[in-house]
Amino acid sequence: MTGITILGATGSIGASTLDVVARHADRYRVVALTANRDVAGLAEQCRRFRPTYAVMVDPDAAVRLRHDLADLPNPPEVLAGPAALEQVAALPDVDVVMAAVVGAAGLLPTLAAATAGKRILLANKEALVVAGALLMRAVADHGAVLLPIDSEHNAIFQCLPPRYRDGLAAVGVERILLTASGGPFRDATPAELVDVTPEQACAHPNWSMGRKISVDSATMMNKGLELIEACWLFDTSPARIQVVVHPQSVIHSLVQYIDGSVLAQLGNPDMRTPIAHALAWPERMVSGVAPLDLFAVGRLDFQPPDLTRFPCLRLAYEAAAAGGTAPAVLNAANEVAVAAFLDRRIGFTDIARTVERTLDRLPPTAIRDQGVADLLAVDREARAIAEQSVASPVA
Ligand code: NAD
Ligand code: MG
Repeated sequence: MTGITILGATGSIGASTLDVVARHADRYRVVALTANRDVAGLAEQCRRFRPTYAVMVDPDAAVRLRHDLADLPNPPEVLAGPAALEQVAALPDVDVVMAAVVGAAGLLPTLAAATAGKRILLANKEALVVAGALLMRAVADHGAVLLPIDSEHNAIFQCLPPRYRDGLAAVGVERILLTASGGPFRDATPAELVDVTPEQACAHPNWSMGRKISVDSATMMNKGLELIEACWLFDTSPARIQVVVHPQSVIHSLVQYIDGSVLAQLGNPDMRTPIAHALAWPERMVSGVAPLDLFAVGRLDFQPPDLTRFPCLRLAYEAAAAGGTAPAVLNAANEVAVAAFLDRRIGFTDIARTVERTLDRLPPTAIRDQGVADLLAVDREARAIAEQSVASPVA
């Protein structure tokens, strides 16, 4: 049996992972499930999957969960606090860690899984954006295996030969074509974008996802974070990555080779495909996703991204090019701005403005030999500046 820890079990990716795992109960044993504070959600999952450990980051929620599960014959051991996430990511009987916490909060547990040499299924793209060099080095140093869950990166991984780790040039790759749906406001005018509400931003046309990534898709910051994620995963530069807007979200990304070949991975937009792929890799297994019906899809469209209407994508390109601490600052400011937008404290177009102001006030420094504590200090500083920007009237 393969032991699995799911970090962020109650979220959209967490639920999809448990759906796939439930289809293969003969192969997977759920060792630990974690959540931030959703007691009802985690309690229900614990009753169904009977993990050895359940973690609540919020200590009060942990008390309530313990109470809620007290009637079980063998209740899970309920742990509390962020350090418990690292603990359950590194347990000896855990083989696979699904990293599906949202935001930079997922960095330390993902790093703990890497240091413990686990197979990491990485949904938590923010961890790579904040600390790409550190995380990739930890994976290499400790013999961990990092498999991308983000549908685009999983598609790219599937379109590359196994030897791609020798370098993309060595395997004849010309560039990566990173597809983007364009989000719910792909064709909105600049004036329409000003009045966008959280409800509209969270209503993605093709994917059902958590609220933070839904807003990121609407601003296209998601594609910006994915650009940086791709640079780390595939050891390449932003210049070798072309963002392609593809409204149908059927092609999940492509790899263009020097001989003119372009390989793509297609499928229905359902995260259970990349999850099942990474769980079973290098084999394949059933995911529960309906087969793709090309006749129902009918047509596939492509257009270039508009960096003027979607300044978050431009800011991410600039942060990727600047390197150093810039991606960590970009990510922290974006997390603050998205939370403020969801709380109706700022408008939709203020998200990009907040990120830009924060980047202006915290110019990138080179990443010397930064440890995780240094990066988390940058993350905190950027959050404080972004909070000030959110609180002060926008020029
Ligand atoms: P979500 O909001 O639905 O779920 C987030 C999970 O993380 C929940 O279990 C929540 O309890 C937990 N969590 C939240 N804050 C936390 C904190 N501070 N500490 C510990 N745990 C915390 O999010 P999601 O849509 O499932 O996305 C998770 C990650 O996967 C994100 O990084 C996202 O970018 C990435 N991702 C998601 C999708 C998707 O389709 N949903 C696709 C690609 C990548
Ligand atoms: Mg994606």
